[in-house]
Amino acid sequence: MAILAYDLDPTEGLAGPRLKALLDLGFPCNLTCGGCARGRQRGRPNRAAPLAVADRLAGLVAETAAGAVSLVLFGGEPLLDTDVVVACSARVRDACARDGCGYDATVITNATLLDGFGARRLSRAGVTTLQVTIPVGARAASRSSLDQQRFGRILRSIREAREELDVLVRFEVDGAEDLREALSTVRVLEREGMLASPHPAAVLLGPRASYAAQARALFLARPARTAAVTRCP
Ligand code: SF4
Repeated sequence: MAILAYDLDPTEGLAGPRLKALLDLGFPCNLTCGGCARGRQRGRPNRAAPLAVADRLAGLVAETAAGAVSLVLFGGEPLLDTDVVVACSARVRDACARDGCGYDATVITNATLLDGFGARRLSRAGVTTLQVTIPVGARAASRSSLDQQRFGRILRSIREAREELDVLVRFEVDGAEDLREALSTVRVLEREGMLASPHPAAVLLGPRASYAAQARALFLARPARTAAVTRCP
């Protein structure tokens, strides 16, 4: 099931309200982090549901007379099917272009499936930002999986993606031990040049939170009005 939730924020800009939309793609995931139901799901991502939701959101651009649209795509691992993410973003981006409306989009990912080609495709479809969420401590599938293969793939993804997209690395931190682990990983990012110009990745430390909560946190202003929640089977 894909889920669309959106708010209209009239406080930003003069061209019209900002339409702030969350699109839970309803995908499974290639990892198995502790406490995450998506990690236990298997099978191919459902393509039809997120594309239907994207079409609904594209229609809302004109219906709401939005002056700008901010979209966050997530859940479980979006890059299991980059084609769908690209198509969803492009449909909303094109609707915004038709209405002279601003558009930005963020994809929340575990960054284990991304390369430069994928990042370029996302960028050309209007995606502006990649949030890489890194669970630490008990939530990671195992410490060794995060320390070795997985972290290596994340590093490679960030290195290639930051040429095309703004990259935000979010560490889930609950307590002092998580904080120590996160900071030592940040030092590795720094040593590897990920935080350096001309395309520095940004680092965010935050509590364990659902992807929907993380997506909402990406919107700077508090939504003024909850407009609707749409579900697609
Ligand atoms: S927390 Fe994210 S990366 Fe981990 S299993 Fe769940 S969806 Fe996948």
